[in-house]
Amino acid sequence: IRVLGIEGTAWAASAAVYDSGTDEVFIESDAYQPESGGIHPREAAEHMHDAIPRVVETALDHARETGDRPEAESPIDVVAFSRGPGLGPCLRVVGTAARSLSQTLEVPLVGVNHMVAHLEIGRHTSGFDSPVCLNASGANAHLLAYRNGRYRVLGETMDTGVGNAIDKFTRHVGWSHPGGPKVEEAAKEGEYVDLPYVVKGMDFSFSGIMSAAKQAYDDGVPVEDVCYSLQETVFGMLTEVSERALSLTGSDELVLGGGVGQNARLREMLREMCTQRGAEFHAPEPRFLRDNAGMIAVLGAKMYDAGDTLAIEDSCVDPDFRPDQVPVTWRARSER
Ligand code: ATP
Repeated sequence: IRVLGIEGTAWAASAAVYDSGTDEVFIESDAYQPESGGIHPREAAEHMHDAIPRVVETALDHARETGDRPEAESPIDVVAFSRGPGLGPCLRVVGTAARSLSQTLEVPLVGVNHMVAHLEIGRHTSGFDSPVCLNASGANAHLLAYRNGRYRVLGETMDTGVGNAIDKFTRHVGWSHPGGPKVEEAAKEGEYVDLPYVVKGMDFSFSGIMSAAKQAYDDGVPVEDVCYSLQETVFGMLTEVSERALSLTGSDELVLGGGVGQNARLREMLREMCTQRGAEFHAPEPRFLRDNAGMIAVLGAKMYDAGDTLAIEDSCVDPDFRPDQVPVTWRARSER
């Protein structure tokens, strides 16, 4: 089957076509770039409004060109869209687009949880069976593992998401959004200065570190040193909690998801920890780590196969949609 995926929870207006026969994923994205400051929900929604029709058209053109279906037939079999979590005004644009496409093309609709998609894409590309998943994205940071029909949240941030925390620091020093790649670059020249390290059991917090990082910068500590120390501290915390989650679940597989997963230092720390305990580590390629409709289409195909479709009247979006609210219908019945 061929699935059209649509993503637009925050900054990426993205459409994809996943062909479950060939396992090929075509992704077309258009990123919202704030003129100053961080993501403004209304401006981001206006971006979705402009860009979603364009990226969807490109994805459908691709499906028509690569498929062998008659012109009169729909080039895709399912429409999958991200229902949340995310910014309400953006989600509503995507939800409306998905509903109208499903009705126009007369194909079923599948509603995907964006966080579950971030982790399922890693399970899909690794072939791992039951990994622990670290979701390190802009607005979130979770450790998840599957048990009894759900992805359970084993640990999570007590305040901001990891990418947003880093972006707040870079905004303070006057760098443009997104800040993550700039911190990674600057950190290469830095040396360690002390910053607070906050892990409480399986949960963690970033707000104190960010205040301390801003203060250190204001006090004249070189920005490279602050960036290096931020990475070492924040990623050290994520690595510690990932290790604890592996030990708690007895799993020997870790997958990484989310835009911060593009950071080479985070991947290096996680890989080293996994090697030391004889576990396997997998990070999907960058196009699947940052927000993208490919992961929505791939999980959409699995949900569709499991009969997990949505009636239009039940297809409202949910800005606070948590991963543990999703009944996992698509894993083998024996595992559930
Ligand atoms: P969510 O997926 O939780 O809704 P989002 O839509 O903001 O959040 P993603 O696309 O997963 O997120 O991630 C974007 C974040 O990734 C931004 O905060 C950005 O700064 C961060 N990021 C991107 N590249 C890097 C990097 N190389 N190092 C660290 N952070 C990075």
